[in-house]
Amino acid sequence: MRLLIAVLAAVVLAPLAAAQTPQLTGRIDVDPRVGLLSGDLCVRGTSGASTFLLNRGLNIRGVRNAATSQALSFDGFYNAQNRGDATPYAVEGDAHEGFCVSYVGAFPVYRVDDGERAANDWKGQIAFDGRTVRAAEQTRFYPVPIDAETGDELDQLAYDIEINCARCRSIYWSGAAPVRGSRARFASDTPRMLLLYAGDFPFTSVEGAHFVGASVSPAAANTIRTGLRAIEAAHEAYLGAEMIDEPSMLSFAALGGENRALGNNTWGFATWPTIASDGRMSFDAMAEGGPPGRLAPGRERYLAHEMAHHFFGARYTPRGPLRWFLLESTAEFLASRAVRTMQGEEAYMALLRDYARQSPAEVVPLNQPASLGGARERDQRRCRASDFGRTRAIAATRGCYLCFVPRARAASRRERG
Ligand SMILES: [Zn+2]
Repeated sequence: MRLLIAVLAAVVLAPLAAAQTPQLTGRIDVDPRVGLLSGDLCVRGTSGASTFLLNRGLNIRGVRNAATSQALSFDGFYNAQNRGDATPYAVEGDAHEGFCVSYVGAFPVYRVDDGERAANDWKGQIAFDGRTVRAAEQTRFYPVPIDAETGDELDQLAYDIEINCARCRSIYWSGAAPVRGSRARFASDTPRMLLLYAGDFPFTSVEGAHFVGASVSPAAANTIRTGLRAIEAAHEAYLGAEMIDEPSMLSFAALGGENRALGNNTWGFATWPTIASDGRMSFDAMAEGGPPGRLAPGRERYLAHEMAHHFFGARYTPRGPLRWFLLESTAEFLASRAVRTMQGEEAYMALLRDYARQSPAEVVPLNQPASLGGARERDQRRCRASDFGRTRAIAATRGCYLCFVPRARAASRRERG
């Protein structure tokens, strides 16, 4: 595992090649009350990408040349083979200067505060909870160009985007300072994964760190930020690499899913620099449970995992059949080392024993994979969908965190003497 981490860390730390920066410009309109989302967005700076991904629930009105506005034909809508939560489209004709996509989609609204529940919720869902809309990069709520040479999904983009939401009181976008009102413009020269959260919600900004979706007292903000800084120090020390941003915290309501309820956080995800946690808990409740001024151990572990996605997710983005495995196992591995640093050897060994307890009777060692597809991939996705909580432990045994198992087994054997 150390070798794997070393190799991946080298990739993380490699200087970025001087290349064109992919950019996204235009506008997005949303109406959280009725579940509508539309966009008119242009993609430029991709070295001639002519294919893109867009959420399968979004319908394309038209595609046009970004320089001339000339209409371009496109293909992919019939008999589509989706990639994740999105449909791939191919632009036909000259898209060398970039292309613009105009689209609209309607999504179910679950009034979570009235007790309405969806069968499930995951990061790739464009989620309307009756008060807000939540769309992370995994939804592909914006056109994600596919690099013509490498096949990379370019979901980290520089941007200049206008958000219009007549019924919104607040708009939050990808780590930027939240805006009060029904219209906002966000711009960044630094490519980022994009996330939109808009509707009726409170927010507080403390020295450039944003607490979005729920209230926070100064004491709770301080406890959470102190915890995040301690995790950051642990990750930086282990990898020998600095984190670039202080994360912003988003507290949202999951639409559904096992063991999920308002006021109880069991699931979260990172769209760096945003760490999003379900349950729509107040940040004061999130800061409770530990010694004075410190987060509870379980909360530290959870946030250590999400913080690790800065390195494994944002700065190093795996792809291919072991994508989820590489993404989640490295993040969880780094989190386990942070637990060891912050909480001590006993807490670390307890974590390993927990992995061992959850491991299946038969484990395929990492150097003897029989298959990279099929069930293994499904389990990777399940693992991703249930990043935190009881389901993770079950999914973890089937492909996500197998790298832990031999180590955990050894720990367990030592424990038994
Ligand atoms: Zn994760």
